[in-house]
Order: sequence, then structure tokens, then C-alpha cells
Amino acid sequence: MTTGRHESAPRALGIDLGGSKIEALLLDAENREHWRERVPTPGAGYDAILDAIVALVRRAEDASALPFTLGLGTPGSLTPEGLLKNSNTTCLNGRALQRDLQERLQTPLVIANDANCLALSEATDGAGAGAEVVFAAILGTGVGAGIAVHGRVLRGVNGLAGEWGHNPLPWAVVGEDPAPSCYCGQAGCIETLLSGPALARDHEAHTGRRLGAEAIAAAAGAGDVASQATLERHASRLARALAGVINLLDPDVIVLGGGLSRIAQLYERVPALWSRWVFSGGHRDPVRTRLLPARHGDASGVRGAAWIGRRYGAARALDARLEGPESGAVTPAG
Ligand SMILES: [Zn+2]
Repeated sequence: MTTGRHESAPRALGIDLGGSKIEALLLDAENREHWRERVPTPGAGYDAILDAIVALVRRAEDASALPFTLGLGTPGSLTPEGLLKNSNTTCLNGRALQRDLQERLQTPLVIANDANCLALSEATDGAGAGAEVVFAAILGTGVGAGIAVHGRVLRGVNGLAGEWGHNPLPWAVVGEDPAPSCYCGQAGCIETLLSGPALARDHEAHTGRRLGAEAIAAAAGAGDVASQATLERHASRLARALAGVINLLDPDVIVLGGGLSRIAQLYERVPALWSRWVFSGGHRDPVRTRLLPARHGDASGVRGAAWIGRRYGAARALDARLEGPESGAVTPAG
């Protein structure tokens, strides 16, 4: 069986290309999971990553008796020349990822921003279903976000809407200087302070112990005071970063995805803290924005990628600024 350009293909393969793993999910016509596989992202460079994606698509073909469309979500976006920019997997930047994969696979492929895929999935039937404005943030190897308004993803004229991970963390407190430098060329970016590696680095700097984010959360839950303090510092940083989002966008719902979204303590602590920085003019007006984990968990981004691939699986115009269920136009990234 081959993948193919089938505008009416009932099946949709989504691929989520992240900094630490590549996940593939094949959905049937009713959006039920037909096949799924996850592999580590190769560290050996661009060609190794292409090889891994091609191998996943071939295994999906083996698992499917029917053709499918193909959508890939990844950090960053495509330039007008079709080159990927702003990926934290920096070997992808400046590369013609879409063209190179299409050549190898001999099938059309749609590329979208991974956080936009999360926003679409969660705004459609997830934690943000029915909300007017959804801000969906991925807190993982890197930090990115997407914005959905009335169920449609806002892409932006530069493909940048939601790229809050490379704004500076606001309202710095003692101990946060000097600001860590970022691969993007700036220093003090939200990503450098709120990613999974940032949480682990902060814990190590304060305790001398090297633990992953989930181990720190587990230790905090078991009563380890140092781990609780690490999570409290992290909650403060996330609360300040999201207060900036609330002041700018005022979303109904903020959805968290990525590995750090599994830290249950954040959903209580962050909303307890953020009103200190949300603009209220001194009034005690409660912040009505809700902070929620992605309802579809780890699968949410790859699900959104599959939908975007299905919706825009044919080679139509590439200039839409909105991507959503009914927009009828293609956007390659954002
Ligand atoms: Zn940066």
C-alpha cells in the first residue's frame, strides 16, 4: 500500500517531530486510533531525522490497508522560500524539510507548527472545546505555544503567532540573573527558564542532584522539601510568563501540553500565583482564565497534525493566515 494524494482519503497519519521523540499516529475515518509508534529523535543530524520519519511512514503503510494523508507538526515554521526556521532542533533550521520529505516519500506532506497542532486539537474537542480563545503551550524540550480563536488557529503574517517562548521571562526575581543564553541569539527567553531541561538545571543548581522533571515532581509529591522548592520556583516563572499572555490575549483557557504538563501541582499553584502579575489596577477581580492539561495528553499534538494533513492534504494555495476546520485554504506552517 502506498500513501497517496487522496483528497478523500479516510485515514490520516500525523507525525509529531519533537526535540526528543518522534511520534506517529494513524487515525481512521472516525478519528479512532488505528496505529501508533514513537521513536527517539536521532541526534545524528538532519539526514538521520529524515530517515527516521521515512521509516515511520513506511511502517504506517505496512499497518494500513488504506491510503492516508500526511501531516507533520514540529517547532518553528516555514519561510516563504519553504525553509524551516525557529526550530529548537537547530539542525532542521534553514532546511527544506517539507520538500526533502516529499521527495523521499513521493507523496504530499503538510507541515504545521507543533503548538498550533496542539491548539487545534484541544480547541476542537479537548480542554478548550467551546472556548472563544485558547492559548495552548507546549512545555517540553522546548517551549512554544499556539492560539486558537473560535476553533481556528491563528498563524500570523510571519508564522509567529504564539511564539511566546522567545519573549523574555517578565518580572525577574532575585536569583534569575544572569539570564541564560538561548539558541535563538537572545538571553533570558521563557524557553530557557521553563523547558524540561531548564527545570532539571535549576534543581541541580540548587541541590547538586541531577533529576528529570517527572522525578522532581514525584519527589515533591513524596514530601522532599528541596524538590517542592524547585517546583515552587518553576510555578512562579510559569505564572509570570502566563500573566503576560493573559494581559496580552486574555484567553478563556490556557492548555498545557508536553512533558511538564504532567506535573499536576502546576494547575493549582500557577493560578494561585498569577493574579499578582495580571493587570487588575489593584482591584481584587478574580482571574477567570482556566489553566488545564491537554485532554488528549501526549497524543494531542500528533492528532492535530493528522487533522491538518487531512484538511490540507492537497496542494492548494499556501497563503492562509488561519487554519481551521472550515477555512478551506492551506497553510504549510505556523
Ligand atoms: Zn530564545
